[in-house]
Order: sequence, then C-alpha cells, then structure tokens
Amino acid sequence: MGMEIGGGVITRGELAEGANGLYGQVGHITLVPDGQLCACGNRGCWETVGSIPGILRRWSAGDSIDEFFHAVRQEDPSALQCLEVTLRDLESALTTLFNAYDPEIIVLGGRLYPYLDMYMEEIRARVKERIYFFVRNRLTIEPATFGSSQNAIGAVALVFERLLTAPLQMLATESATGE
Ligand SMILES: [Zn+2]
Repeated sequence: MGMEIGGGVITRGELAEGANGLYGQVGHITLVPDGQLCACGNRGCWETVGSIPGILRRWSAGDSIDEFFHAVRQEDPSALQCLEVTLRDLESALTTLFNAYDPEIIVLGGRLYPYLDMYMEEIRARVKERIYFFVRNRLTIEPATFGSSQNAIGAVALVFERLLTAPLQMLATESATGE
C-alpha cells in the first residue's frame, strides 16, 4: 500500500502468477462503482481511493500524506471524515480478500501502512464481524516485517527463486538478452 496498491498470493510456498502475471492484483477490486478511472481501465478500484494519491484526491485539502495524518491528529473534520471512509474501504477490501482467498495470513505493508498501523486493531475487529463466524478466530492480518526494504527484498527473492529452481534456463535467458 503506497502510491499504488499491489498484492501477491503465496500458495503452497510459491508465488501464484496467474495466466498473465496478474494474480492477486488486489488493488483493482472495485470498491466504488462508477468511481475514478483507474490506470487498469476499471473504475473505482481500491487503488483509486485507498492509495496515497487516492486518499489525497479524496481529502483535497493538502499535498502530502504526512499533512493528511497531521490534520487527522489535529481532528480536522474533513481529514477525519476522509480517514473514516479510507478505513471502511480497507475493511471492505480485506473482507473481500479473506473471502476470495481463504488465507492463513494477510500481510500488509508499503509506505502508507505505518500511518494505518494504529487503526489495525479496530480494522481486524471490524473485518471479523463480516466473515463466516466459524473462521473469525482464524483471521490473521499482520504488518510486513521488512520495513522500507520490502520491495527490494521481494524482487531479489523472485530472482533467487528462479535461479534456484531453473538455473540453466535463467542463465540462457540472461545471456540471450545480454547480447
Ligand atoms: Zn484498477
């Protein structure tokens, strides 16, 4: 969660890629029918309202996410209202993710996440109210643990995984593209 909202699904220890490498692009689930046009072609994606630019577009009273959360701490009514809608969207998105994937764990991270961490206990409780009662105690939503390095570590892990599972194929591709 940052300038965009992306996602990935690890299943049986491997990153699921889908037919087009788009598996788990959770930022593009529709939250606002007929909402803002998204880069993906859809309207009202979670990314259009829940990313940093999405929040700032909705709040429209400042230019940075720091400024927004400063206004929240000052209990500025427009910022508080925007925060409430943002948290409600997050709650809807996480509920949808839980129902779509039945995951052991949902891991949240990115540049936006540290600002939202203090609301997560409430969000967890709200999502629990919205899923099947018999799995409520199995809902696990946790922050990512790699801090600001998570994108880099994810990219390196992908390369290592390919290098370890199909080294010759990868080296052949590398030397072909290097020419
Ligand atoms: Zn989209």
